[in-house]
Amino acid sequence: MRDSEGRNIEYVRVSITDKCNLRCLYCMPEAGVEYMPHDELLNYREIQRIVSCMTRLGVHAVRLTGGEPMARRGCLNLVSMLKQTEGIDRVAMTTNGILLRGRVAEAAAAGLDALNISLDTLDPAIFRQMTRCGDVNDVLATICEAVDCGLRVKLNAVAVRGLNEGGLCDLAALAREMPVDVRFIELMPVGCGKGLSPVPNDEIRQRLEAAFGPMPYIDERRGLGPAVYYRPEGFMGCVGFISAVSHEFCEHCNRVRLTPEGQLKLCLNHLTGVDLRALVRGGCDDAALTDAIRQAIRNKPRRHGFADAIDDRESRRMHRIGG
Ligand code: SAM
Ligand code: SF4
Repeated sequence: MRDSEGRNIEYVRVSITDKCNLRCLYCMPEAGVEYMPHDELLNYREIQRIVSCMTRLGVHAVRLTGGEPMARRGCLNLVSMLKQTEGIDRVAMTTNGILLRGRVAEAAAAGLDALNISLDTLDPAIFRQMTRCGDVNDVLATICEAVDCGLRVKLNAVAVRGLNEGGLCDLAALAREMPVDVRFIELMPVGCGKGLSPVPNDEIRQRLEAAFGPMPYIDERRGLGPAVYYRPEGFMGCVGFISAVSHEFCEHCNRVRLTPEGQLKLCLNHLTGVDLRALVRGGCDDAALTDAIRQAIRNKPRRHGFADAIDDRESRRMHRIGG
């Protein structure tokens, strides 16, 4: 359906947990994280029901995220339930990849179409520093499994000044060696990301061009998301840029988000939303639920307003709202 700005909303990101096996510097604090009680989370049937109502409004693609989606038990069962939901033609997952090691074939068999795997550096020591506890070899093994299974694979990297900026060309070079896209996501000033310094994507692009030569724009790579893609000569995959901060793309935004506790969020940076869990658990029928979603989508904020003083600014950390 179209929102009041005329944007076609066709994609929902479903965050299924606020838990994570890592503690990335820009996303979670090292200690003292209080997780939501399990009964406050939507169960998988409730998620499927909400997604099914959304398909009546034109949503046809779902991405599971978190926290770490694989940290919630039965995540691959949910993949299968969503894939079988009428009107859904694509189920994807955003993951740090670690708990998926050895299970990618199972995920593909459950119906997973595509994987976005977060990877900020190939350097084991810097990886450990940025995630506070992870082993980069687990992520690399999962990437190889995903490629072998024939899944569409995109790697997402967040560049942080003074941390991983020296290894960005090495990361991009994965797209030369393998059929994967490597995308640079600008650090957003949300939650723990506020205290860190971003490396703007224009600067990363210049560095990659210096290393790999001209990078022609690849129009046909544009998917449902905001990434802009380029392919240096000799690369199997593309290099992509998601520049939410330096080049706002709100006018093309096509997504809404469902948080683990069932809030329909209309924009990452705004609190505005509707409590779908209360409706579902309060006995609302599908027609009324669909109507509530329709009304909410109509009121989707026009812009994220990262740089503005906005009244309903999101203050939760990324693992709670679903990145
Ligand atoms: N745990 C999964 C993962 O890491 O892929 C899924 C959830 S994570 C919140 C989703 C994405 O959000 C990751 O690619 C992560 O790098 C990104 N992210 C987290 N905090 C961010 C921030 N402050 N700015 C930009 N991206 C951020
Ligand atoms: Fe966990 Fe993903 Fe946040 Fe890292 S970015 S702490 S992997 S939820």
